[in-house]
Amino acid sequence: MGPRLPVLVLNQNYEPLNVCNVRRALVLLDRGKAETIENGRGYLRSPTALFEIPSVIRLIYLIRRPRPQGRLTRRDIFLRDQYTCQYCGKQTKELTLDHVLPRHRGGGHEWSNVVAACKPCNHRKAGRTPPEAHMQLYREPYRPTYSYFRTFYHYLEAQEGWRKFIPGSEANFGFA
Ligand SMILES: [Zn+2]
Repeated sequence: MGPRLPVLVLNQNYEPLNVCNVRRALVLLDRGKAETIENGRGYLRSPTALFEIPSVIRLIYLIRRPRPQGRLTRRDIFLRDQYTCQYCGKQTKELTLDHVLPRHRGGGHEWSNVVAACKPCNHRKAGRTPPEAHMQLYREPYRPTYSYFRTFYHYLEAQEGWRKFIPGSEANFGFA
């Protein structure tokens, strides 16, 4: 388990960049490309040495690259829609994903075509568009502005210690 544990990689300016595993982090540290910001996860033994297992590392040089977008998950959509059905407005954690233009009619799995829907609404809409089903969207689906929290939240449950490095991670919808 040790070598595969996730390690949070911060840019030189402390911006969260991505997540790698301990093995990769140790290579970056060994080559002088990163420094340890947090460890305290115990030790990893190689035949010749003992390494402290890092939890958070920071790159020595600033990396310029687009912000990671990650894949679009159910929870991304539920967070954007604040766990609210986009047809009836009910707030619940019993949600499904609804493709506004159904997938079998060419609707994409993308921010602008996916909304949170409660089970009764999803059932009622079935494989139709909202007008065909005589249903109205609460709000047009949209791509939200970039959020570090949305990019990294799925690690936070297991990695509480990362919270202070992830801007916006104090946000919590109760269900999230
Ligand atoms: Zn509903």
